[in-house]
Parts: sequence; C-alpha cells; structure tokens
Amino acid sequence: MIYVHVPFCHRKCTYCAFYSKPVLETRGVSPAVERYVDSLLAEMEQRKGEQAHPIKTVYFGGGTPSILPLEQLARIVEGLRRCFDLTQVGEMTLEANPEDLTPAYLSDLLRLGFNRLSIGVQSLDDAVLRLLNRRHTARQALDAVQNARAAGFGNISVDFIYGLPDISTFYFQLSTLVTHVSAYALTVEPGTALAVQVEQGRVTLPDEDEVVRQYHALRRMLSESGFRQYEVSNYALPGYESKHNSRYWNRTPYLGLGPGAHSFDGRGRRWNNPDGTVGEELLSAADAYNELLMTSLRTVRGLPVAAVPESQRERLHRGMQPYVECGWITVKHDAYCPTAEGLLHADGMAASLFIT
Ligand code: SF4
Repeated sequence: MIYVHVPFCHRKCTYCAFYSKPVLETRGVSPAVERYVDSLLAEMEQRKGEQAHPIKTVYFGGGTPSILPLEQLARIVEGLRRCFDLTQVGEMTLEANPEDLTPAYLSDLLRLGFNRLSIGVQSLDDAVLRLLNRRHTARQALDAVQNARAAGFGNISVDFIYGLPDISTFYFQLSTLVTHVSAYALTVEPGTALAVQVEQGRVTLPDEDEVVRQYHALRRMLSESGFRQYEVSNYALPGYESKHNSRYWNRTPYLGLGPGAHSFDGRGRRWNNPDGTVGEELLSAADAYNELLMTSLRTVRGLPVAAVPESQRERLHRGMQPYVECGWITVKHDAYCPTAEGLLHADGMAASLFIT
C-alpha cells in the first residue's frame, strides 16, 4: 500500500496539530506546489524498489490533497503508475475538503482512477464550523457529498468531529448518502489556536461525560442506519470498511511518500522530516508487541491470542482479567475483543499491558 502526503491547506483549522502549510487560497499554479510535485516524483524514482508486497491500496492524505490542481494530481498519479505496479489496486482514496469538490473536479478525479473520497465535513453546524476555522459551510458540505454521488462516486467517507456542542443534524442529513463515517473525539492539542481559546475561556467544550454520551448516541444512530463500528473512530456499511486503514491496523507494510510521511517495512519505520531529512527506527520485539496491542485493541476484531508470542500469553491472560470482569473486553473466537465501552479505553488498556 502507498500513502502520499500532500502538505498544503487553505488555512489552519483551530484544532489541527498536523504538519501542513497554509499557503493556497485557490487551485491556481503555485511555485510551492510545483516544487512539491517535482520532489515527490524524484522520491518515487528513488524508492521504487522498496515496496515488495503487492500494492492493493493508494491513499492521498494531508493536509488537503483536493487543494491540488488537476494537472499536478495527474502528474503524481502518472508518476506512481510509472514507478509502481498499481494493477492490483482496488481502493484509491483522496482526502478532500467540501469547498474543493466541484462537479468538474469530481469527474476528473474519477478519470484519474480515484474511487473513494474521504471528505472533511467535521460538523453540519455553521457556528461550529466557524469555531473550527473551516472554510466551508454546512450547505457546501452537503452539496459536496451530493455532487460526489452524482459524479459517480459510490464509496464516500465523511470525517466528523464530536465532543462539540451539537451532533444531531449530522445523522439525518448525511447517513443515507455515505458509505463510511470516521468520527473523532475533539482533542485539544497543545499549541493549537483552539487550546489558546479554551485557556482564555473564549470557548467552552462539553465535559467528558457529555463526550462519552455523544459517542454512544452517534454509535446508536449510525447502527440504526446500518453502519457497523469496526474501529474506535470508524463506522462502515457492510463491505465498505477502509481497506487502506484496516491494513495499517493489521500492520501491513506500507510506503509513505512526501514530507512528513511515514513508511513501515514490517521490521522498522522510516519517516520523512519536513526539513528533508529522514528518520529511521528498527522495532524491537517489545515495540512490535506493544504496537500490536495498541492497534488491535482499537478494533472490534480485537487481539487474536494466536498473534501473541507464546512467551507473553500467560501475562496477557492475567492482565486482561480485570477488563473482562468490568465489561470492557469479551472473549470471542480466541480473541480479546473490546466492547463499545472498552473501545473508549483502548489506549489505556493497551498501555497497561505493554512490555519493555
Ligand atoms: S484541513 Fe486538515 S490538515 Fe489542514 S489544517 Fe485543517 S485539519 Fe489540519
């Protein structure tokens, strides 16, 4: 699988701590974008021998990939086709912001081979969208999803944030139009504009009990519309689980291209620093096991005991006991599977089971 990082955004959302450059207001030709695409193509040439596994998914993430003019996107896709065997790719996703998805752009995306969109809707409340410094309105988000359907996209995911004042309008307006929902609890990252607003008392966010209430309400509403939760933040209609993200959680090797992108070859990680340098780390047996705990306990599939080294099983069974007793974990088909409540505690449970 291949991940392509596009580091540009129209402007910075107040809650965002990702690396991105808020440089573009329009989809016009920009020297920064030209330079980025040139260096991405050079990186593909350099690293084309690295992906030993068949490539089944390609994911353009960011940043805001839909900020790219079509000609530049086409250059990147052609570069990928030249350097890698994409004949087995079944899922090719582009992350997009609603305001970029005009009917003409959507048709062009389909022509380039994209068959899945992940649209950053976040909220359907205009006041909340302003609070988050998003550029689009609720109307634009709905239009974008409808335009995508009309253009021929049959697989559409929307990103959505809860832990905000209101989530109810989302369900009624979007759940019949999309196949996948990623719902993230708002986290206030240090150093973001939102953190400053909260510190200064200019923004008041719901308390933890309300956030948990919203999580359960959202889960219930989505399940009534046929969406199944398969990871702590991800829900899909049957057959529409994100193949790309599921492979991350299964620890399938992947190649990450572009500034800030990470790669994993099954033994170690490599990442491109924004300054052009490269970082690398080889995972120890303990690191690999801890990552397995971390990723598998965030999925409803859970942690299959067969995936755990024999030397760790006794310790794992002991460590899981309190979670089974309090209802956060159930044992199914010889796997430790988090319940809906347990998914909320996935990170804490995993951390308590880490080895050194
Ligand atoms: S569009 Fe996405 S990456 Fe860009 S600033 Fe907003 S949240 Fe961050």
